[in-house]
Amino acid sequence: MLASNLHPSPITPTVDFDADGVQHGFLRLPFSRDDSAWGSVMIPIAVIKNGTGPTALLTGGNHGDEYEGPLALYELARTLQPDRVTGTVIIAPAMNYPAFRAASRTSPIDKGNLNRLFPGRPDGTVTEKIADYFQRYLLPRADIVLDYHSGGRTLDFLPFCAAHILPDKTQEARAFQAVEAFAAPYSVRMLEIDAIGMYDTAAEEMGKVFVTTELGGGGTARAETVRIARRGAMNLLIHAGIVAGEPDIKPTRWLDMPSDDCFAFAEEDGMIETMVDLGEPVGKGEVVARVHPIGRTGLAPREIRARMSGLLAARHFPGLVKAGDCVSVLAVEGEPVEP
Ligand code: CA
Repeated sequence: MLASNLHPSPITPTVDFDADGVQHGFLRLPFSRDDSAWGSVMIPIAVIKNGTGPTALLTGGNHGDEYEGPLALYELARTLQPDRVTGTVIIAPAMNYPAFRAASRTSPIDKGNLNRLFPGRPDGTVTEKIADYFQRYLLPRADIVLDYHSGGRTLDFLPFCAAHILPDKTQEARAFQAVEAFAAPYSVRMLEIDAIGMYDTAAEEMGKVFVTTELGGGGTARAETVRIARRGAMNLLIHAGIVAGEPDIKPTRWLDMPSDDCFAFAEEDGMIETMVDLGEPVGKGEVVARVHPIGRTGLAPREIRARMSGLLAARHFPGLVKAGDCVSVLAVEGEPVEP
């Protein structure tokens, strides 16, 4: 399993991934520092296993300011009984635990954005060590991987479950079937701005069925998006044959992100006025947002126009933007994938 040219991970799990039953423990990552000379970062992890069967790896807190995933997964870890399980459910509700504790996207220890540091390094920074452990020790165990995201403090999304267009069309179809099973209000064939170093890419390159979400944002969670997150996890485990029962299927609208014309970015600092709300239609060439100069009165706002027609799938959340901030993401309605 391990590449021979790499050191073993410094992380020690306090759980046995091959033992039946429920275990609540930690990935213990040694981190020597001023306030704890021989101290560790203790990343919560739960394993619920019953006999042989598929393995699901469920993660939240990859970015530390996104809450639907952790809210769903701490509860699932607390409540899922092994007698309902055939196989294994591994739950890491706060993957980048230092970032999660700091309520920030990246780690306060090394500024690491976990979702840009895969495959990680066993001899790297704290965040790189976390990535390496998932890359070499946890992902290889998994048949199906669900990584929850939301918009964090700076973006807000329509609630959707998503998978990527992949070169292996069999793998892609299995991922889209899993997205359909999650049954979020929206299901997205997702395009990334920058897929290098992502956990998603690491899982997909191993041939795993990988699904992700964007379930809201603004650095908080809403009652409805948490319900979607909880229902989706259970639906996915039922879909994977790991939990028995009937899925709670709700209608979903499929969306496509056909090109990077989906994305718009601010070109100067200012106060943003998003001209349509999430889920509303925008025509190509229409003004999707205005950036108002704030240093003095009398200046016209800069208009940001849609480069394609679609509906607003994500928007910048705080009231002020900086040059380079993503201000809007558009998506187009597409036909459901044939199962
Ligand atoms: Ca995220």
